[in-house]
Amino acid sequence: MIRDWTLGRERDTGLRSNPKLTTSATRTSSSTARHDKAHIFDSWTTLAARLRNAPHLALFLDFDGTLTPLRRRPEDVTLDPETRAVLLRLANHSHLTVWVISGRRLEDIQRRVDISRVRCAGLHGWERPNKTTARSLSIRALRQARKLMAEALSNLPKIWIEEKGRAFTIHYRGAPISVVRQGSIIVYQVLRRFQPRLRMLLGKEVWEILLRELQGKGEAVTALLAELPAGTLPVYIGDDVTDESAFAALSDGITIRVGLPRLDGPRSIAAAAGSSRAVKARFTRADFTLRSPREVREFLERVEKEISIERPASEADGRIGQPLSYSGAL
Ligand SMILES: [Mg+2]
Repeated sequence: MIRDWTLGRERDTGLRSNPKLTTSATRTSSSTARHDKAHIFDSWTTLAARLRNAPHLALFLDFDGTLTPLRRRPEDVTLDPETRAVLLRLANHSHLTVWVISGRRLEDIQRRVDISRVRCAGLHGWERPNKTTARSLSIRALRQARKLMAEALSNLPKIWIEEKGRAFTIHYRGAPISVVRQGSIIVYQVLRRFQPRLRMLLGKEVWEILLRELQGKGEAVTALLAELPAGTLPVYIGDDVTDESAFAALSDGITIRVGLPRLDGPRSIAAAAGSSRAVKARFTRADFTLRSPREVREFLERVEKEISIERPASEADGRIGQPLSYSGAL
């Protein structure tokens, strides 16, 4: 099951039933494993061998809060030169594909990454280069919902709406808790009127309203991985609730949450909305953690070092085209 935070419901995306993506690692996300996520550098010896032995690597990277620190205004976020440099070197490696998958618009994330060989996807993976999409019949509902929310939220300080085409984001970073509570009640009330055409993702101090067809990062990485060579080892790094579907979808790979294992978003938002429903603390589905974007850069540098180690040609070439047999939990 993939967590869809729209009105607190869960839905089955079918990702877990994909035999290619289902291993013993899936079962490690059971309740007994959620509280105890290893820092990835503590398991490096085992991981390094996996990275070196994979015939191809796919690095799927979130942007805000993962490659860069969060800022109050999204337009103030930039990629630091050191991180850009290591991404550039990795993207030029023949055994590696780099995707940056962001909640931003595609044009925005391409401009901020600005590395031609790094592939970018916007709107949580839905907006990709050369991807054709039909005009959605729900666009009108999205516009109506945005108009209603904008009017109702207009008197609340430090709450503002970012337009994203097939989605819009309501930011409340820095707003007092009483204002967040009022805002969340308005958002929930308006959203209910547009079910099932719209859905909501809860991110870090944002509410994101999307067309139902924007399935999120789990669906995106599953599709992107299917386009890569058989046996590709996926690595996914993200910091937000919006990355959880990708962690779940890539349970065969290496999944890393930036920050603490505990997800604070759903609980805080439910409390802010005055929900009487008990909301339990939830924990990431990622297998490992990193503490900060700075450590993400160190991780990328370590990956670069491992895959640059010379391998006997027969060992590397003999595996291409064959599915890898992952051991699952490390
Ligand atoms: Mg993020």
